[in-house]
Amino acid sequence: MNAMSETAEPLVMTMSGINKSFGDFHVLKDCALDVPAGSTVVIAGPSGSGKSTLLRCVNLLEFVDRGSIIFEGQEVARERKRAFAIRRKMGMVFQSFELFPHLTVLENITLGPQHILGVDAKTARDEALALLERVKIPAKAEDYPESLSGGQQQRVAIARALAMKPRLMLYDEPTSALDPEMIKEVIDVMAELSEAGMTSIVVTHEMGFARRAADRIVFMEDGVIVEDAPTDVFFSSSANPRTRSFLEQLV
Ligand code: ADP
Ligand code: MG
Repeated sequence: MNAMSETAEPLVMTMSGINKSFGDFHVLKDCALDVPAGSTVVIAGPSGSGKSTLLRCVNLLEFVDRGSIIFEGQEVARERKRAFAIRRKMGMVFQSFELFPHLTVLENITLGPQHILGVDAKTARDEALALLERVKIPAKAEDYPESLSGGQQQRVAIARALAMKPRLMLYDEPTSALDPEMIKEVIDVMAELSEAGMTSIVVTHEMGFARRAADRIVFMEDGVIVEDAPTDVFFSSSANPRTRSFLEQLV
């Protein structure tokens, strides 16, 4: 978990000098972030600080005005035409689940592999059932999303993202829409994936998850990455006054 061992891993994604404006509003200001293979980076910070925009720039749902994003060794920041092909190598999990309501859980998971990756139906089904085991809802394969709890729906969304065999998982406040009793079941699945080596960027305020699963924690404010520290340093000895006041608000 220290900086020396991290830099020894190849970088799945590295961004530098990222600037993004919406009209006159300068949302991201010279942001830089390294994501080594197998690591989990947590991004925290107040609402409106640019966390979602940063994730959307990483998976090319938005395009940066200036700066570099190198994903698996290739500069992708301006790859508008190849955005879809690049994006499918990243799994994205949103606050609002965004499952297809007219498809069963199994169909939600097999749709992408079958239609985008060209996996045959039997293989897609077998892999989906294995993923449902992994997210601990094997009995829900034939159910429709509306019959599931929020925590179960979010775990289906995670399984659906994993079915595309992503090189990088992106989570945008995945537990913010959940009732408190369901947060843990989602956090547990995410932490187990991180512990198994899934490279991940996680926007969350769940500091229990961060302590357990993050290698580094990034704190954003007003479009600026004000701190980027190993997890133990972030919690125990951050000298940054912004980080300190954020941590004090949590207790
Ligand atoms: P966070 O996820 O940290 O809450 P966001 O990245 O969603 O922050 O938003 C950062 C700022 O950018 C906010 O002030 C938000 O209103 C603004 N913003 C986000 N998306 C757009 C957009 N498409 N057009 C204009 N402003 C936007
Ligand atoms: Mg957001």
